[in-house]
Amino acid sequence: MTGIEAVSTIFVPYGQGRGRGLDEAELGAHGVEMDRLVALGLPVVPGVTVPASHAASLVQPDVARAAIDLLQQVAGRRFGDPEHPLLIRLLASTSAGGAGIPVDLPGLGITTSSASALDEIVGCGGAIYEVFAAVIRYIGEHGSGIPDDDFAEAEYVTSSHEERVAKFLELCTVAGFPFPDHPADQLACAAEAALRRWASPRARRLRRRQGLPEELGFALHVQAIRVGPPETCGYGAAESRDPANGAFAPTGAFRRSVRRAMAEDRPGEPLEDLPGGRDLLVSALRTLELHMRGVAQVEFEVRDAELALLAARRVERPAPRTAIRLALDLAEAGVIDDVTAVGSIRTSDIEALLHPQLQLTGHETEFAHGLPASAGAAAGRIALSSERAVEWSESGDPVVLVAEETSPGDLPGILAAKAIVTVRGGLSAHAAVVARGLGRPAVCGATAVRIHQAAGTVASDGQSLAEGDVISVDGSSGTIYVGAVHVVPPQPGGDLEMLLRHADRVRRLKVRANADNGRDAALAIQHGAEGVGLCRTEHQFLGDRLPLVRRYLLATDADEEAAALAELAEAQKEDFLDLLAAVGDRPVTVRLLDAPLHEFLGEQAQEVNPMLGLRGVRLALMRTELYPAQARALFSAWVDIAATGATPQLEVMVPLVALAGELASAAEHIHRAAADVEAATGVSVPYTVGTMVETPRAALIADQLAGIAQFLSFGTNDLTQLTYGFSRDDVEAQLLTTYTEQKLLPVSPFASLDPDGVGALIKTAIARARGVRPAIKLGICGEHGGDPASIELCERLGLDYVSCSPSRVPGARLAAAHATVAVAAP
Ligand code: PEP
Ligand code: MG
Repeated sequence: MTGIEAVSTIFVPYGQGRGRGLDEAELGAHGVEMDRLVALGLPVVPGVTVPASHAASLVQPDVARAAIDLLQQVAGRRFGDPEHPLLIRLLASTSAGGAGIPVDLPGLGITTSSASALDEIVGCGGAIYEVFAAVIRYIGEHGSGIPDDDFAEAEYVTSSHEERVAKFLELCTVAGFPFPDHPADQLACAAEAALRRWASPRARRLRRRQGLPEELGFALHVQAIRVGPPETCGYGAAESRDPANGAFAPTGAFRRSVRRAMAEDRPGEPLEDLPGGRDLLVSALRTLELHMRGVAQVEFEVRDAELALLAARRVERPAPRTAIRLALDLAEAGVIDDVTAVGSIRTSDIEALLHPQLQLTGHETEFAHGLPASAGAAAGRIALSSERAVEWSESGDPVVLVAEETSPGDLPGILAAKAIVTVRGGLSAHAAVVARGLGRPAVCGATAVRIHQAAGTVASDGQSLAEGDVISVDGSSGTIYVGAVHVVPPQPGGDLEMLLRHADRVRRLKVRANADNGRDAALAIQHGAEGVGLCRTEHQFLGDRLPLVRRYLLATDADEEAAALAELAEAQKEDFLDLLAAVGDRPVTVRLLDAPLHEFLGEQAQEVNPMLGLRGVRLALMRTELYPAQARALFSAWVDIAATGATPQLEVMVPLVALAGELASAAEHIHRAAADVEAATGVSVPYTVGTMVETPRAALIADQLAGIAQFLSFGTNDLTQLTYGFSRDDVEAQLLTTYTEQKLLPVSPFASLDPDGVGALIKTAIARARGVRPAIKLGICGEHGGDPASIELCERLGLDYVSCSPSRVPGARLAAAHATVAVAAP
């Protein structure tokens, strides 16, 4: 092929690829990228692409010569012109990204006769010689097969880049491959070196490992780089957003002189000092952002104070704060709509902004691993008892409570601790549920941890720590580290709330919170909860109130029982006042007592299997004054709150129902209490009665329940436990970890709702309940209510709302919006 033919058929100047009908496989990612920049009217470095199917022809000197002729035309400069010197940059790209790409040679075209004049112009400590040496070495090693050791040895015995060039040239001559002294011949040799490297067994292996075809071709790109003095010339990289706050504020750096072949340790200069100013760079980045709908990253050259782009890409995973600010900016500019803005943010981005994070350096020592039970991170001294946790935290030390498992009696310790670690227990066990409710980071089911209370030590995997030693806990990943890792505080900021308001416009599902008291409810509402979907009244009896509950539960005669109950009801009314005041006019589901007796009585609970024992409605039917007392406390609190002008929408919920008769009896207790309060106050309190659906039988008889209940709330913690027969306290850490490793389960069904079994029960229940009461309100209040995949299932099943712990509300709002879009998609 002659040079003339080559020019017309082979080379594709930047910007003409698509116009010639070439695709990414031919043009490589870089060719496509440059086409796009030209089409956007952005300044690019002059260059031509040799498409993949012709790349091999560049090894022919006449083809390389034709390439250089064309390059001179597009650059408007000639090689060898001492007034306006030019260098050639050769790079390669494939359609499949940069994996193992063989070449990026920034300085072809330097010759023995031109080097010293170029060096004088460029300066910077022999930069031209450094680039020249790197080119000789690359071509010598990969094109001519001269061993790298020879170059390394030559490098070792020379002390300047200029000397090194002389030595390398000599090495090539001695080896029988004199280094070419013409730019076109150098280009041909460099292309050959690149092709050989790409065909090497090592490169093929690499492609295989990356799932790329071994025979994958690459396009070669030849760029013209103008050379000049450091005052007006340099190169650099910039990104469109400031990582500190995500705002549009181009950040980056540039370096004067020519680009080296190796990564540089010279510090860069700020963009403000860019020769010719940074205005063009700023407007290029803005144009690119709007076009790519993402954070833009560019590489650029400045020659004679003029900017030209060498590369531009979209940052695939920007930092959460940046992703959110960008989505808001693009929506405001009208480039994207609410759905796209909301779809571009992941729930994990929100978690990262809302919870403290460990700033890991990679040098940390891992102590143990468990279930990521409650997001966030903290460091503190190991406390092996609730009392110790309280004592040390009162004296100002941050503590991490480390326990076999926790029970209601440990609440003071949990409150005092910055984080909680338990050896046993799953994602819906006591420690996890309470920690999530409080927004404390927690790792549960860290089964490798051994606590030696007597010795005051904690051991895991051959490491031993003493009580009082510092550990760091990452509740988002489930990892515990030895020592104090720096904790970055959460910084949600106004952008997050604005994005969530976009999500609120998109989503169909309502989002409520599981909140047991006024403080949690206020926090949940601040996070955007539309009401309380579950107030677990037994949680109001933790801590200081525990002796009172025990007195009631263990009472041996009616008087003692009645006295304890009256005291409990009084205390509970105070809690309800706080709760209802925080809730305002919103709906609030108050669940009557559901206390597995072992959680309150410990050893004194004489049940072999308390989770299946005298719990929930069953206890209320044995102790028939319990629910009326609770309901009276609730209704009279409502009367007091109503007097202040607020009207909380009361939903009174009965737990652990398996028989329609249980619900009917409990409903009677509630109605009786309402009548008592009306008689005492003259106020008829508006309320609805509903039930948890948390036993499989309740799901199957949802039609019967719907005859009595005005709402149903799926308690998927118990429903999962009872559907699988998996103890929610015991199996998760050990059995389910093994099951997921063995791929028997894709994920713990306590973390993500099981669509096949539990989901089928819910579906059945919904159909049966709506068959009887079409407008029945349906929600979920198990821990799944905060899990994005489960929220999507809830959307598919057509529930009305999800309810989750307060700290998960923002994520749930976003996940609900994603779910609406996913389910509506054809
Ligand atoms: C449930 O079982 O899903 C539920 C919300 O109730 P608890 O976790 O209190 O048993
Ligand atoms: Mg339950």
